[in-house]
Amino acid sequence: MLQNKKTVITGGASGIGEQAVRLFHENGAQVVIADMNEANGTALANELGEGVSFIKVDLSIPEEIEQMIASAVETLGALDILINNAGFGTYGRTHIIAPETWYKVMEVNLNALFHTCRHAIPHLMKNGGSIINTASVSGTRADYGFNAYAAAKGGVINYTRNLALDYATDNIRVNSISPGLIKTPLTGPLTGQPEAYREYMHNIPMSRAGEPQEIAKVMLFLASDLASFVTGQNICVDGGASAWNGQPR
Ligand code: NAD
Repeated sequence: MLQNKKTVITGGASGIGEQAVRLFHENGAQVVIADMNEANGTALANELGEGVSFIKVDLSIPEEIEQMIASAVETLGALDILINNAGFGTYGRTHIIAPETWYKVMEVNLNALFHTCRHAIPHLMKNGGSIINTASVSGTRADYGFNAYAAAKGGVINYTRNLALDYATDNIRVNSISPGLIKTPLTGPLTGQPEAYREYMHNIPMSRAGEPQEIAKVMLFLASDLASFVTGQNICVDGGASAWNGQPR
């Protein structure tokens, strides 16, 4: 489905990004994993072999992002697909969290997208392409205690729309995906707390957490020609959670 498509996936060393790397590789794409986790990223690239490579990058450092995109384009020979997927959250009400924590969440979840796009778009403009940003349902409606994360992911969703407009006639489609609760290392601590987990399940109409592959499949759709007229959209992949108005069942 993505034969020979040159793809960069940030946060590709774990969780959702790792499953995207696997699925895109299976579908014929050439993939660069861009992540700070060198051990996981190298192991995945070695396991998948030809067509997959790893570049170490700290996405909170703009100079490293510029270097990463340049190296990726050199490795791939061009660029067709950019997946901005790396991210993390922190918990704590506003009067408690440190400003440094807020800034870090913004840097990785939101500012990094500006820097990757800034450097990648001139390459994507050559033949058209697809940008997919991983947002979160926390960016569509708030979560208790996830102030910086909710603000950053809300920013990702609206920045996605802005990019979609600005580059529509360059044939670059830009969409975001908002996952609900997905079983990855990021949410591992929650799945270890049975009571909190049960409470969470109650808030998901399908009564289960998603698998990272279920997000990767939507990424594959958005990256492919199946989505050739889809741009500027945010797709919630959350077992129905965002469709529910919160009234008792
Ligand atoms: P994960 O922790 O399994 O993977 C995140 C990857 O991003 C890791 O490989 C990590 O090394 C990388 N990363 C983090 N900070 C980085 C940095 N500064 N520089 C380079 N790489 C960095 O998490 P995941 O659950 O797969 O999350 C992927 C995306 O999905 C994130 O944007 C997250 O916010 C979003 N998301 C996840 C869930 C969920 O329930 N898991 C829900 C909504 C949104």
